[in-house]
Amino acid sequence: MLFRSSIIMLLLEWVLPIAAMFVIFNMMMKRMGGGGGIMGVGKSNAKGYVQKETGVTFKDVAGEDEAKESLTEIVDFLHNPGKYTKIGAKLPKGALLVGPPGTGKTLLAKAVAGEAKVPFFSLSGSDFVEMYVGVGASRVRDLFKQAQQSAPCIIFIDEVDAIGKSRDSRLGGNDEREQTLNQLLSEMDGFDSSKGLLVMAATNRPEILDPALLRPGRFDRRIIVDKPDLKGRVQILKVHSKDVKLDETVDFEEIALATSGAVGADLANMMNEAAITAVKNGRKAVSQKDLFEAVELVLVGKEKKDRILSQEERRIVSYHEVGHALVSALQKDSEPVQKITIVPRTMGALGYVMQVPEEEKYLNTEKEIRAMLVGFLGGRAAEEIVFDTVTTGASNDIEKATRIARAMVDRKSTRLNSSHRCISYAVFCLKK
Ligand code: ADP
Repeated sequence: MLFRSSIIMLLLEWVLPIAAMFVIFNMMMKRMGGGGGIMGVGKSNAKGYVQKETGVTFKDVAGEDEAKESLTEIVDFLHNPGKYTKIGAKLPKGALLVGPPGTGKTLLAKAVAGEAKVPFFSLSGSDFVEMYVGVGASRVRDLFKQAQQSAPCIIFIDEVDAIGKSRDSRLGGNDEREQTLNQLLSEMDGFDSSKGLLVMAATNRPEILDPALLRPGRFDRRIIVDKPDLKGRVQILKVHSKDVKLDETVDFEEIALATSGAVGADLANMMNEAAITAVKNGRKAVSQKDLFEAVELVLVGKEKKDRILSQEERRIVSYHEVGHALVSALQKDSEPVQKITIVPRTMGALGYVMQVPEEEKYLNTEKEIRAMLVGFLGGRAAEEIVFDTVTTGASNDIEKATRIARAMVDRKSTRLNSSHRCISYAVFCLKK
């Protein structure tokens, strides 16, 4: 009896609390993203992101012809590594996709895997960064181990700058990130590319990457994925309207002109918003008006119907917006006005003027930039003339105008000082 109760006491006093602590600690680790609790701290969660077949091909990526051309070669390496190794060529190990967010870097990486019909392991740089030293490094090891077992395949690391930041730029260093980066470098040196394993990474800040990552044999191929031009935007709209019913008013060229600076993700979003608007209004097909509404939605936010402006405020906003539009219309070098509205929007505008260029421009003349500056300040000028006072409504216009004016002075003065003489000399040489 005594013996039995002492076992129970031992259980209650020691085993149970330790077991409870183990369970609680394990749960905490899981919550912190340790992947698989205490037993799986170093395990990569690549399994969750592995796709046997991405189902994406180059046809799904519109525009970006140069990037696709460079990647076609890589697809061939993956298809047929033997062809290259037989002749003694070394296969590339890594390709770095560089470009702003939403330009289709992930989509391109998936398309490479889809075209080569190989599995796609994807992780984001931030997935490796843990609070425990050594966890990131062991995740990298685990990821490469898994991938090597499934070769030929592609490893895709999004936002690689989260682990690949230059080591010199960090004051005091960060042991965890440094270890993770070192592990990535040694894995990239270690694997055998003739098996058809390729590491792709994406970043929009290549300048902060550690130079060691960009050395030959690592991410030595750089593929630029830029914002789409007019033609690219039309093609992206076409790709994303594949399954959308459109009516006869739709003109993609016009939408593409109005969306200069938009990336693929914005355009995909616009197409979807336009389809939703059409359904909301009980129509069976998307019209050009729906598309323009979607452009506004993505660029300036939703209509804010509950913001009730007073009669006087509405008058001020009206004159302000007409001021912008008139000044733009009266100048020779400004872009044509497409729409004036005084419906407040969720991104803060109480009204705005939409200007759409007649054609895509790659260069701006000084006259055009000056016309832009005058256009920005037209709203405030109208307020001054009509109400003999000004409001805070022009603050955003002034901010934009200041940014442009500052850039004009900064860049022009440095260029004039340093290169004016060079230009004069070039002219002199040419004349000779
Ligand atoms: P990134 O990785 O550069 O941030 P993504 O590849 O994640 O961008 O793009 C997000 C989405 O935007 C894609 O899933 C796709 O729907 C759309 N998209 C972006 N670029 C393109 C493109 N060039 N062609 C077609 N769709 C695109």
